[in-house]
Amino acid sequence: MTVDKIRLYVEHPLGEGQTVPLDAAQAHYLFGVMRLGVGDGLRVFDGLSGEWRATVAEAGKRGGMLACEVQTAPQRDPPDLWLLFAPIKKARTDFIVEKAAEMGAARIVPVQTDFTNSERIRQDRLQAHAVEAAEQCGGTFVPEVAGLVRLDRLLADWPGDRHLMFCDEALVGEPPALGGARGAPWAVLIGPEGGFSQPERARLRSHPMAHPVSLGPRILRADTAAVAALTLWQLTCGDWG
Ligand code: SAM
Repeated sequence: MTVDKIRLYVEHPLGEGQTVPLDAAQAHYLFGVMRLGVGDGLRVFDGLSGEWRATVAEAGKRGGMLACEVQTAPQRDPPDLWLLFAPIKKARTDFIVEKAAEMGAARIVPVQTDFTNSERIRQDRLQAHAVEAAEQCGGTFVPEVAGLVRLDRLLADWPGDRHLMFCDEALVGEPPALGGARGAPWAVLIGPEGGFSQPERARLRSHPMAHPVSLGPRILRADTAAVAALTLWQLTCGDWG
């Protein structure tokens, strides 16, 4: 990898001539792992200002400084899409967060359902996975990973204008079909390995903004279902078209 291919997310405003301080973890990654030194170039983004070329101005073991030079890509925000998913085993939950960031979800919301396998999440770890995914896929936006929220509470406070693509395994075998509303706020909902309970299904089906959707002729694992649903949504309503 040439040094210019290295991309780093920084929580610091970017602009021409701006200096950007590095914390110990960033210094370890750039100088310890990637072997960058003073004068080497890389690309940085802050989630708001597009991508910038920067050079290393100071390199230390516990910190450092970058000098921001010129913008290399404009800011590109994803469509207003939330991914709601019931956390499953650790590695598969990590996979869902990583893929959601790559696939262009704007917000990732772990939800606790009646059959959710896991009652706790490490929000900071999941957020770090979203950052890494954005660094690697060339994105300039990092989706927020929200804290775990109960599905019934989320539905009780549901924003009136947000459509809900409810991926319902009970519809397996029906053709996947999603009605339009391109440009509107949306959310995709994926259940846990045990699926949705009957009361949840009844509540979701009667929800005024819900669109119950099949993901084809086979029951998919939750992590596969998340990627399939995001693909279907992006093709129908998102920024792939
Ligand atoms: N235990 C459930 C069963 O046997 O019916 C399957 C749950 S599935 C592993 C996990 C989640 O992925 C589901 O709750 C649903 O949101 C989604 N999913 C998987 N396959 C699907 C399909 N063919 N159609 C719609 N949603 C699907």
